[in-house]
Amino acid sequence: MADYGLIINGEKIATTDSFGVINPATEEIVGQCPIATKEQLDDAVNAAAEAFKSWSKVSDEERVAACGKIAEAIGNHAEELATLLTLEQGKPLSGAQFEIGGAGAWAGFTGGLSLPDKVIQDDDKARIVQTRKPVGVVGSITPWNFPLMIGIWHVVPAIRTGNTAIIKPSPYTPLSTLRMVEIINEVLPPGVLNCVAGTDDLGQWMTSHPGIQKIIFTGSIPTGKKVMSSSADSLKRLTLELGGNDAGVVLDDADPAKIARGIIHGAFMNNGQVCAALKRLYVPESIYDELCGQLVEAAQGVKMGNGMDEGVQQGPLANKMQYEKVLDLLADAKANGGRVLCGGEAPDGPGYFLPYTIVADVTDGMRIVNEEQFGPLLPIIKYTDLDDAISSANGLEVGLGGSVWSSDAERGSAVAAQLECGTAWVNQHGGIAPNIPFGGVKCSGIGVEFGEEGLAEYTTIQIVNVNKSAAA
Ligand code: NDP
Repeated sequence: MADYGLIINGEKIATTDSFGVINPATEEIVGQCPIATKEQLDDAVNAAAEAFKSWSKVSDEERVAACGKIAEAIGNHAEELATLLTLEQGKPLSGAQFEIGGAGAWAGFTGGLSLPDKVIQDDDKARIVQTRKPVGVVGSITPWNFPLMIGIWHVVPAIRTGNTAIIKPSPYTPLSTLRMVEIINEVLPPGVLNCVAGTDDLGQWMTSHPGIQKIIFTGSIPTGKKVMSSSADSLKRLTLELGGNDAGVVLDDADPAKIARGIIHGAFMNNGQVCAALKRLYVPESIYDELCGQLVEAAQGVKMGNGMDEGVQQGPLANKMQYEKVLDLLADAKANGGRVLCGGEAPDGPGYFLPYTIVADVTDGMRIVNEEQFGPLLPIIKYTDLDDAISSANGLEVGLGGSVWSSDAERGSAVAAQLECGTAWVNQHGGIAPNIPFGGVKCSGIGVEFGEEGLAEYTTIQIVNVNKSAAA
């Protein structure tokens, strides 16, 4: 079994304690994750703070080059990282390779973004220039659905803008991040990127640590709220990318045969374990039966199994906690009149497997609709009045993404504009890119990632205001 350590100041650090990370396909142990002590977190913060003194002053060109080297380093170790990711997260190897490819592409693209100085006034009275400065040490807390890609989303913009960072992966999937940070450290000065891992207290130690100036967190809404409150004492900058319960609204002019595959992809990508997956579908009565049939057809024939096996397209849920949560929501839907159109039964044997499951005849207020499933479950709700469907789509406390499905792009866009969410897609769901700002409204988060707007979140504004008349 490989040997994993914390990565602090460019060195691999052993810990006294560790815990076994479970392969969700076999329920066997993949490797031992080191458990950082509070003192080791302090070491990481001190290393990042020390490195910040020089990294915040290196040239823009050097930082752009560093992001390119990060992308290259990830690419050079793609197979090793993808295998480790599949073993601890469960996704098929092809999905893990896609994630690593995305992480590299994001790193490269983000390196090329910049936030140039803005001259606000320059005349005989004054020269006023707005610059952007790094905030200091950034703490990144990542989840288990896309550990490597989200890790890169968090730390590359930090490094690009002159900050230093400490990443803490989820205890469900820590090994691939520890290894990725070790690899990245081969191309960065010591202390610029550190990685700590451990159990429950570590995240809270980070969010309350006075030496960390910003937290970027991706995870659940309840934990996001805890992050916000424990960051308050030191008034940390925050970017929170929290859960969603994205609605898809199908319009009566949509062609079921044309939209079914896109809906299935939006709902079940990464086994539905996506913050902006399509999690409840509103369908007009006039095409309800036809669309249900098309969705079942599109969802069937998917090969489920151990992600390491050839040709597998759907792996297990990533951990037991999530598996039990999804099974509980499914049982509740069945007990309350939900009609299972496909899937719906967990196979015997080891592993947290559940096939793509579509549940029709459910209504607003049922748990499967109102709670984020974060798994391969899609509830379908019939509607007769479009305004009611829009109001249902907007009726929850969340607002990450949403989608509208129509044969008329203009009509679809007009309805999309009425959705209360950070991204409203038309005839697709879940498409993101490194140049498009992404974030949630309402309880789905604070701030955005990606694009210049995302990069700006790792900086504070400084105005240099020169009074020219006094100097004359
Ligand atoms: P959490 O939101 O609890 O965990 C995400 C990360 O936050 C982990 O690294 C976790 O590490 C850390 N964390 C937990 N508590 C704190 C705290 N008080 N302060 C700082 N960091 C903390 O997600 P779970 O893994 O428990 O999953 C729960 C639900 O969250 C899922 O069922 C799903 O609905 C949703 N989810 C949403 C994601 C998204 O992309 N928006 C991603 C993953 C899950 P540790 O446990 O060691 O503290």
